[in-house]
Amino acid sequence: MHVLTYHGEALASYGFGRGHPFGPDRLNAFWQEMTSRGLDRQSGIGAPVACTEKDLVLFHTSDYIARVKYQSHTGEGYLDYGDTPAFPGVFEAASVVVGSVLDGLKKILAGECRRVFVPIAGLHHARRDTAAGFCVFNDIGVLIESLRKQHSIRRVAYIDIDAHHGDGVFYSFEDDPDLIFADIHEDGRYLYPGTGAATETGRGKAKGTKLNIPMEPGADDAAFHRVWPRVEEFVRAGKPEFIILQAGADSIAGDPITHMQFTPATHSYAAARLCALADEFCQGRIIAMGGGGYNRDNLAAAWTSVVGAMLET
Ligand SMILES: [Zn+2]
Repeated sequence: MHVLTYHGEALASYGFGRGHPFGPDRLNAFWQEMTSRGLDRQSGIGAPVACTEKDLVLFHTSDYIARVKYQSHTGEGYLDYGDTPAFPGVFEAASVVVGSVLDGLKKILAGECRRVFVPIAGLHHARRDTAAGFCVFNDIGVLIESLRKQHSIRRVAYIDIDAHHGDGVFYSFEDDPDLIFADIHEDGRYLYPGTGAATETGRGKAKGTKLNIPMEPGADDAAFHRVWPRVEEFVRAGKPEFIILQAGADSIAGDPITHMQFTPATHSYAAARLCALADEFCQGRIIAMGGGGYNRDNLAAAWTSVVGAMLET
């Protein structure tokens, strides 16, 4: 099978309640569009699965994992300074996000599929020791550590087109020369989390392995295409063995919490180009995650465009 898309109630359970921008209804909004475009019949469907604590500790601190577990039990308080509330079962829900990504990796490495899409994933703000910005466990961080420690795949390219800077990935691997990081995001002067200046290029021996491209509020598809060739060139020069795409749909015009003006065509284009690079450098291996996106129509259009591009390439 060429593409595997994860879908199931357990993934939808990662959400902060009805009416919240990151509500549990996001998965269904995506899936309705998948079925109306007939993509659910072209893509394989992966069942969500929870990861173990052994997986989480590849990236997160034991103290933090224990804290999430405790607050998941009480269902009270925040897991950060006030953006990311605990809810009953948040530990299990967040473990399913990570577990589905790791299951996708296993299936790619076993040759069962070439590309994977996990809609409710790409929680790029979580740090090793804390939640942040609706992100409890950083599935991307765990995936990168798993590639290295469990599968001896060191050189990984992470590309992020979510409106927000992928700070949880960036700062966790800022001094890691084998993590090729490229992030197109709304300028941190206008949007959470405020980081990702063009001058942030990596530290120490990792200097030059990170590419941050802040965009003016209102940046449209033409602005995207002016900077995209730099991303491709950067990934190509990094000669990755594996590619990760965080395809946040909050960079599309009409998102309620950002000011970007991309259309879903950017998401489809980025996915298609990265699949081509994955074919060239990585034996086709690429995992894409849905990331942010709080306008339901936008996330449905953007994410199905990504799956469509993965199927076509
Ligand atoms: Zn975002």
